[in-house]
Amino acid sequence: MEFRDLKQQYQTLKPAIDKAVSQVLEEGNFISGSQVTVLEEKLAEYVGVKHCISCANGTDAISLALMALGIGTGDAVFVPDFTFFATGEAPALKGAVPVFVDIEESSFNMSPEALAAAIEFVLFEGKYKPRLIITVDLFGQPANYPAIREIADKYHLQILEDAAQGFGGSMGGKRACSLGDISCTSFFPAKPLGCFGDGGAVFTNHEKWAEYIRSCRVHGKGKNKYDNIRIGMNSRLDTLQAAILLVKFEAFQEYELDRVNQAAGWYQEELYGMVKIPDVRKGFYSSWAQYSIMLDSQEQRNLLKRYLAGRGIPSMVYYPKALHELEAFKDVKTVKTECRVTESVCRRILSLPIHPYMEKETVKEISYEIKKFLND
Ligand SMILES: *Cc1c(COP(=O)(O)O)cnc(C)c1O
Repeated sequence: MEFRDLKQQYQTLKPAIDKAVSQVLEEGNFISGSQVTVLEEKLAEYVGVKHCISCANGTDAISLALMALGIGTGDAVFVPDFTFFATGEAPALKGAVPVFVDIEESSFNMSPEALAAAIEFVLFEGKYKPRLIITVDLFGQPANYPAIREIADKYHLQILEDAAQGFGGSMGGKRACSLGDISCTSFFPAKPLGCFGDGGAVFTNHEKWAEYIRSCRVHGKGKNKYDNIRIGMNSRLDTLQAAILLVKFEAFQEYELDRVNQAAGWYQEELYGMVKIPDVRKGFYSSWAQYSIMLDSQEQRNLLKRYLAGRGIPSMVYYPKALHELEAFKDVKTVKTECRVTESVCRRILSLPIHPYMEKETVKEISYEIKKFLND
C-alpha cells in the first residue's frame, strides 16, 4: 500500500503526460518554454488572482514573496509553530525573526487568539518590528482568514499565505492562494497539485510585487536577462514540469479534488466516534494534503504506527517536532510564545494514507485495523 499513490496517478494519466513530455523534448525550450506562461495563466484564473509567478520550489516562492514585501533584519514574522520547517526557515534566512505562534487543535492551523497575544508580546518587548503574518493552510485546509485578517488590519500587518499544502482548498467561495496579500504554493510531488520534481508559485493581485518577483526569479533582470537591476535568484519552473503540471491540473480540476474529498468522507464514516478525526470548519473546503488523526498519548500513537506498519499500512508523523523545538532555530533570533497545543499535537498526531486514487476498500481496511487496535 502507498501512502500517496503517485505511480497509480501516472498510470492513469500516462498517455497525456508522455505526450506532453515528448513535445517539450522535441521543441527543446527547456527553460521558459510557452507551457510555463500557459500554466501561470490557468493557475491565476483558477485561484482568482491577477498574477501567478511560477518558480523553482515552494520555499523559493516564500523567499521571493518576502523579498517583494521587503522583509529583512529585525522584522518580526509570525508563523505557526506547527508546520513544515520552510515556513520559518525562509524568513530566518532573510534575517527576519520568526515568532512562533500556537495552533488550534481542531484545525491544526494558527490560533487567532495566540496570534494576537504574540503580537502584543513583541510590541511590549519592543525589540523587533511586527511586519508580517505567515498563515499556513495546513494539511489542505485554509487557515482562519476572517479572524486573522481582522488582527492583521488592527496591527497594520500583511498576510503571506503559505498554501504549499493548500492548493485546491477554499473558504467562503474564495480559493486558497488568493487568501493572503501574497500567497505561495509548492508543486513538490506529494502536494495536492504536484509535478515530477520541484516546483512552486507565488500569487498576488499586487502589480508591483508581481513585477518585482518576475525580475527576482531571473537574477534580478531588468529589460532583459543581461541587464541586471537588483540582486535576485535563479528560481524558474522548468518547461518539463510546467508541461506535466498542465496535464495534472486538468485531472485535478476534473476529478482528483472530488475524489480525495470522497476518500476523506469514507474515513469519517468509518472512524467517527472511534478516534479524533480531522475537523473541517463550516464553509471551508480542504484539498486533503494529509488526513491526520489524534491519539490520546504519544505512547498510543507510536504503538498504532507500529501496529499499522506490521500490517503493511504506511503512516507518517507530520510533524514530530514543533518549530521552536528544532535545533536549526537555536542559532538564529526567534521569539517563542507559549505553544502548549503544538507540543501536545506533535506527540499525538498520525497521518494516514490518502490520495485521489484510493479505493473505498482500502479506507475500510485501514479503518478496520485502527478500530481493532483501539478495542484491544
Ligand atoms: C512543502 C512545504 C513548503 C516548501 O515547499 P518545497 O516546494 O518543498 O520547497 C513550505 N511550506 C509548507 C507548509 C510545506 O508543506
